[in-house]
Amino acid sequence: MLRVAVVGSGPSGVYAAQSLVEQTLVPDVRVHVLDRLPCPYGLVRYGVAPDHQKIKSLQNNLRTVLEHERIGFVGNVEIGAHGLTPQRLLGLYHAVVYCVGAARDRRLGVPGEDLPGSVSATDFVSWYSAHPDAAGNGFALGARSAVVIGVGNVAVDVTRILARGADELRPTDVPETALTALAGSLVREVHMVGRRGPGQAKFTTKELRELGALPGADVVVNPEDLALDPAFADPSGLPAVNRRNLEVVRSWSDRHPRGLDRRITLRFFLRPAEFLEADGRVAGVRFERTVPDGAGGVRGTGAYEDIEAQLVLRAVGYRGAPPVGLPFDERRGTVPHSAGRVLRDGAPSLGEYVAGWIKRGPTGVIGTNRPCAKETVTSLLSDTHALARRTVEEDPLAAMRALGHHPVEWPGWLAIEEAEAALGRSLGRQTVKIPDWAGLRGAALGPG
Ligand SMILES: Cc1cc2nc3c(=O)[nH]c(=O)nc-3n(C[C@H](O)[C@H](O)[C@H](O)COP(=O)(O)OP(=O)(O)OC[C@H]3O[C@@H](n4cnc5c(N)ncnc54)[C@H](O)[C@@H]3O)c2cc1C
Repeated sequence: MLRVAVVGSGPSGVYAAQSLVEQTLVPDVRVHVLDRLPCPYGLVRYGVAPDHQKIKSLQNNLRTVLEHERIGFVGNVEIGAHGLTPQRLLGLYHAVVYCVGAARDRRLGVPGEDLPGSVSATDFVSWYSAHPDAAGNGFALGARSAVVIGVGNVAVDVTRILARGADELRPTDVPETALTALAGSLVREVHMVGRRGPGQAKFTTKELRELGALPGADVVVNPEDLALDPAFADPSGLPAVNRRNLEVVRSWSDRHPRGLDRRITLRFFLRPAEFLEADGRVAGVRFERTVPDGAGGVRGTGAYEDIEAQLVLRAVGYRGAPPVGLPFDERRGTVPHSAGRVLRDGAPSLGEYVAGWIKRGPTGVIGTNRPCAKETVTSLLSDTHALARRTVEEDPLAAMRALGHHPVEWPGWLAIEEAEAALGRSLGRQTVKIPDWAGLRGAALGPG
């Protein structure tokens, strides 16, 4: 029998567990899927936007996997906390697959980015997704004008959430505190700003189009920005997705505003140079105009433009931060590996593997994690003989408890689901997420 710990219950962790129990090469593989949260599904629960119910429903597929008879969910157990180091974990399992994601935000590195009113999109997403680590209601929703820095799908998500009315979000599982705060939001202008052109932006066309279909918001595009993009006149050299994006943006530049309550303005070829301050808070962003450099990038022109904003959301990418004790490539923000085998000092470390965002960086859609996890599991299985010879302790959960952890197993998670359904009923809504550690742990483990 091979006992494997998968650390992280997001898509890559669940796909890794699925690959492990569905293969026939090594028949008796038992898997524990560990997570620091008492809830499974990683960013599908805590990142995918609440108004994207279809993608959210992927949780049902992940759930079926976690209910497999040879897979056990073990939440509320953080690797790296209470002495449960990667080294200690290797004493409990024949193999450990790290699928811990890369959910830390990247910084811009420009003056003033930490002024009150300037926050990372990661924090904003965590807040409306009810992540128990989220900081609370500290967002400047009293702002009339907001700037979102970045032109990827996360930038589109946060722009859309700011531009939607609370009534549109009420049928979702958004936590009640976030819904109340969004209902009182004064934000009327949202500027989504990218340093490159629309032909190079990272958003996908479906997500982009959705901005133009919001019932309460106009979308405006600055024709001068578009004219700077050489692909605007001749998009034939662009990959299909960028070409489609450009077509959508082009159609918006011809459109007359409908006079709706809120306005989204898409801006391109502007890179943040400095955050502007008034009364100790952010009051706007000074951008430097950029132009294409002819090599696929941009260069600054020395010309500047200020955009007023009392709320700034920085959505310029994600970065890994694995548990202490795992090797880490600072430059790439990933754990060094060879086909999923963790490399320590350049050599594969027997029993340690990675998959998902922490392996390849924060790119791709949820489905991209499936082949990624499969590659890792293939490596693991070909190490079976050496792994099976490793001595491991009999009862990993008892060892975790002895270290001071309080594992939440599947029935505990089901109790959280039930508590969230009950909370929704009490508020006259569908299921509503519990946003705090005490509430989640109380529901899963009972009082005390
Ligand atoms: C805001 C946002 C929106 C997105 N929307 C979409 C979308 O609409 N469609 C789409 O296809 N993709 C979307 N994605 C991308 C998708 O979420 C990722 O591809 C996917 O979640 C990556 O999976 P993962 O398993 O590597 O990491 P994650 O989903 O981040 O899972 C990592 C898990 O590891 C756990 N963990 C971390 N550290 C520890 C530790 N020390 N000990 C124990 N457990 C730990 C975490 O709690 C988490 O549950 C979105 C991403 C973001 C950030």
